[in-house]
Amino acid sequence: MGEPATREELYRSIYTHDTIYIPPHEETSGALEVALGCSWRRCAFCDFAKDDFRLIPLEEVERRLTVLARLQPAQTRLFLLGENPFCMDTDRLLAIRTLVARHMPRVEALAMYARADDVLRKTPGELAALSAAGVRALHIGVESGCDGILLRCEKGVTADQTVEALRRLDAAGIDYFVTVIPGLGGREYSRLHAVETARMLNRTHPKNIWCLKLHLYPGTPLYRQAQAGHFTQMGPWEVLAEEELMLRELAVTDCLFEDTTVLDQYTIRGMLPDQKQQLLSAIDLLLRAHAAPG
Ligand code: SF4
Repeated sequence: MGEPATREELYRSIYTHDTIYIPPHEETSGALEVALGCSWRRCAFCDFAKDDFRLIPLEEVERRLTVLARLQPAQTRLFLLGENPFCMDTDRLLAIRTLVARHMPRVEALAMYARADDVLRKTPGELAALSAAGVRALHIGVESGCDGILLRCEKGVTADQTVEALRRLDAAGIDYFVTVIPGLGGREYSRLHAVETARMLNRTHPKNIWCLKLHLYPGTPLYRQAQAGHFTQMGPWEVLAEEELMLRELAVTDCLFEDTTVLDQYTIRGMLPDQKQQLLSAIDLLLRAHAAPG
């Protein structure tokens, strides 16, 4: 069999799946697969993607890099694929950085998904070394600031641990983009979820807060909890009202707030704190239009 010829074939030769998912704000980054799946695999709402967790051998990472270098020779930023590749030990991450420098010398910045406890397992010195090596941003699913909800969801970290992890990133000069899941407390804990999530985020400095829609995937523990009557899923308008409360309580600065799946129809996006009032007015308008008779 000869060399892959077309760009499509080359791309297909470096990714395990036909479709790759990278977060907003990384769309222009090159995507380098360095791991598959998630090392935790226990969150009650998560369908665990489709892969068992594994690290891609470094020789294979290097092969993929040589292909990516041909495809994107001018690329300056890479997003490392895998559900939480930051769980890798620091030496391995630095080894990948060395390979990137060898094959894609223009790359200055690396970003990837991480769990808060992946950060906590690294010393301040290691985080500083990774920052100096070009790790610029981590994308972290914090989901909630309410310990009861985090526990029920088996997130594996408390709100305080999340805050500690994010503060260590502040100290190391690594940006973080966080996702939260409005509705994750169910109707029972909606208010608590909104208020405590805002309170937790107010102790941190995220570049971006992205509200993700809760999906109840059949087969997940949260789905079974809902079936058994222990979790009451909220309707989209209730979720929007909860999001409004969280936004009202948020006091973060220099942070882009966004919800790209509002009611599956709208995008709400604006900088905090400057556009907070506009965002609240937009949500209020939607809620009032929905509540209006006829
Ligand atoms: S850390 Fe993320 S990918 Fe892993 S189980 Fe939890 S939600 Fe899923």
